[in-house]
Amino acid sequence: MPLAKSWIESANSAETDFPLNNLPYGVFSAGDGEMRCGVAIGDRIIDATGLEEAGILRADADADVLDAPFWNDFMELGPEAWAAYRARLTEMLSESADEATRDALTTYSVKMSEATLHMPFRVSEYTDFYAGKHHAFNVGTMFRGPENALPPNWLSIPIGYNARASSVVVSGTPVRRPWGQIKAPDAELPSFAPCKRFDLELEMGAIVGQPSQGPVTVQEADDMIFGYVLLNDWSARDIQAWEYQPLGPFQAKATATSISPWIVTKAALEPFRTSTPPRERPLLPYLEEPGPMLYDIDLSVTLAPKGKAPTTITRTNYREMYYSAAQQLAHHTTSGCPMRVGDLLGSGTISGPVKESRGSLLELSWGGKEPITLDGGETRSFLEDGDTLALQGAARGDGYRIGFGECTGTILPALKDPYAR
Ligand code: CA
Repeated sequence: MPLAKSWIESANSAETDFPLNNLPYGVFSAGDGEMRCGVAIGDRIIDATGLEEAGILRADADADVLDAPFWNDFMELGPEAWAAYRARLTEMLSESADEATRDALTTYSVKMSEATLHMPFRVSEYTDFYAGKHHAFNVGTMFRGPENALPPNWLSIPIGYNARASSVVVSGTPVRRPWGQIKAPDAELPSFAPCKRFDLELEMGAIVGQPSQGPVTVQEADDMIFGYVLLNDWSARDIQAWEYQPLGPFQAKATATSISPWIVTKAALEPFRTSTPPRERPLLPYLEEPGPMLYDIDLSVTLAPKGKAPTTITRTNYREMYYSAAQQLAHHTTSGCPMRVGDLLGSGTISGPVKESRGSLLELSWGGKEPITLDGGETRSFLEDGDTLALQGAARGDGYRIGFGECTGTILPALKDPYAR
């Protein structure tokens, strides 16, 4: 599929994250500070709430769905309404649009550089998975040795844990280094201290756009997914190492999870579908993929020490995952667990096969034993105060890219006394 041309010139550049082929959904404020639903195109944001109020573009004839500053009510309308809205918006922004349409959309738009971006949807519940095989193998090797690296269930189950919706924040939100219970390997007893091994996890987040009751198939699960965001699952490795057995991560993963501000729809990613890698053990039939359900999305992470230029610390691709979001979602429902509109599924850390494609500092520095060197000479085993992390992602088409915008966060120092009142 070639670049779809828009009358908004900045959308026709091969460099923009937001060509007409993309049209991701977000929430912004500008000028009056009111939060509104918006659609990114080139260097502008279309005020979707304004278009709905004015009756110029409505997703539902009878009810306002974009008046609350979240895309949840829109998602509830379902796939037919999603497709119709996208088709109409594409038409209005394409170079064949008439003068009156262009004038109307110009009135209902702002420059992206003058807008503040907010959480694009209300997170109902949040589950994080562990579905990258290279990551699971690397971490397992460090914790248990290469013979027992993959847990015995790993090739059969997309492993996950129920995480905290309340911890999900939009890109740009600073992240405070947590305190927690930590036990040094040679210490007899744990202590309560600021995390010393604070880390990132490069992931994709899938957003559930339709509810379910009872088990769903992988195909049904794929149909339920509305779109994707970049996701950074901030992780306190020293807290995690002490607390994780037998029930998995708890406080180590509860400080914050950052997501990119634009929901890139499944529709925009359609040309980039790809299959999961070959199975190393046959899956139970309910988990088999009926078609390609992963996506070819280039991913990278930069780390910038305070006041310094960023260094790219890893490059990988979403197609490295062993399980797709649709497989994860299908597995999530096997128990009868109901899914809701606005549920967020973290993919698990996306590491590739080589060192330069590892998706966490834990892996890049091999547990702190091999610190990485940044441009400018500083080294890192884990994150330091003032560091700014940024995740980037884009699917690459012919002369255009489907970008996600950045997912950033800066580390604030731990509080001196977290119990001070
Ligand atoms: Ca994770």
